[in-house]
Amino acid sequence: MADKYLELVNSGFTKKLAKSLGAPRPAILRRYAPGAPLVPGPLLLLGNSSAAQELADTLLGWGLDVRRHASGETTLGGIILLLDELAAPAELSEPMLAAGAALRRLAPGGRVLSFSRPALATDAPAVAAVRQGIDGTVRSIGREMRGGATANGIVLAEGVSVTAPSALAALRFLLSGRSAYVDGQFITVDSADGTLPEDFDKPLAGKVAVVTGAARGIGAAIAETLHRDGATVVVVDVPAAGDALAKVANRVSGTALQLDVTRSDAGEKIIEHARSRHGALDIVIHNAGITRDKLLANMDAARWDSVIAVNITSQLAMNEAFLAAKLPGLRIVSLASTSGIAGNRGQTNYAASKGGVIGMVAASAHAFAANGGGINAVAPGFIETDMTAKIPLATRAVARMLMPSLMQGGLPLDVAEAIGFLASDAAAGINGRTLRVCGQSLVGA
Ligand code: NAD
Repeated sequence: MADKYLELVNSGFTKKLAKSLGAPRPAILRRYAPGAPLVPGPLLLLGNSSAAQELADTLLGWGLDVRRHASGETTLGGIILLLDELAAPAELSEPMLAAGAALRRLAPGGRVLSFSRPALATDAPAVAAVRQGIDGTVRSIGREMRGGATANGIVLAEGVSVTAPSALAALRFLLSGRSAYVDGQFITVDSADGTLPEDFDKPLAGKVAVVTGAARGIGAAIAETLHRDGATVVVVDVPAAGDALAKVANRVSGTALQLDVTRSDAGEKIIEHARSRHGALDIVIHNAGITRDKLLANMDAARWDSVIAVNITSQLAMNEAFLAAKLPGLRIVSLASTSGIAGNRGQTNYAASKGGVIGMVAASAHAFAANGGGINAVAPGFIETDMTAKIPLATRAVARMLMPSLMQGGLPLDVAEAIGFLASDAAAGINGRTLRVCGQSLVGA
């Protein structure tokens, strides 16, 4: 969605004026376009991991320009920190200071990415210290970024290599414009499962995907993004939204299923439609959701119960149906929210449902993996929709201060890109996790 403020502070005379007045000037974020370069310049690979050469070869195979040493004044598209073999905090000094020296040459929309291991209670204290320290330092780099650049990390479970399929898929996602609004986050790769797509611009080719709550908003953006990435899409929404739903179905050359997801047979109806119309069901996006905000002191049963029913109980029931049908390789992505992590005034019911989604995906991972599939969640923060566009400019400006580095809300597309990534077979090594798409909002940080 075009944002007038963003346009004004980034073009012509008004750009100069905003600069001289010291007004916040959020950058126009680098977003994905099919065929566009993965990164806006060469990649600098730092760190002494034994996986360095193999990773460099992979990146070269993707047609990228890879440097092992910072030299000259070349503008960099990204800095990759291989920190997966560090054993004590003192070892962070060399790669971090080298990264610091190169940061000024990072292009607008550039990326800093780390590879590390999880800090576990069973680690030697010095090992756990450096691993947890990486978490803090990468999040801090994110807060220091300018020009739409971001910093994120990939955490590899013990035994998973830097070049495991889902580690490489996460790396591509985080380097690309698909992750424009993912900042200060970590993607954990749990296993070496997964296969990289033949065509990175069509990672969902041949897949049949169902998106609930797709008549408008984020759901419609998800349907469009999955279609762009090669999937056949079934869009689901309540009968009252039938006209809008039919339009989305037409736009994505898919089919529409009018269905209230709280119906007890919703899961079976979805399976039946996908199989009879398209021959399979490979991906489900649990996006349908409602808010019924009230302070808890004023909360009534109708508000509380409807939010829980739509946002989480329906998903639990549908998942039972999907598990019972033993759909091979089924990948599910569910919509959580930063409200479910940080809490939000007036949203006790909503936060219970969205925190519930985070717990549900973690506890369902094992069951879906048994059929070769997986389940994850995406937690959006402040997303600029038709609804937020109506908020007065000054109030929106305050909301943006919660994202001090990117200084703007995300777009429905940004949420959809993260969902598309997690729905792909390349992300099969990621299971039971929640990825925030929040522009490193201070809320729940
Ligand atoms: P929206 O209200 O614009 O769209 C939600 C859609 O879900 C609507 O088309 C609605 O008809 C449908 N729906 C509601 N109840 C249904 C039911 N029982 N069965 C089938 N469909 C039903 O909302 P949105 O802003 O696009 O949000 C989409 C999802 O993202 C929700 O789960 C929401 O909680 C989550 N989310 C949104 C934001 C944001 O900033 N907009 C932030 C965090 C999380």
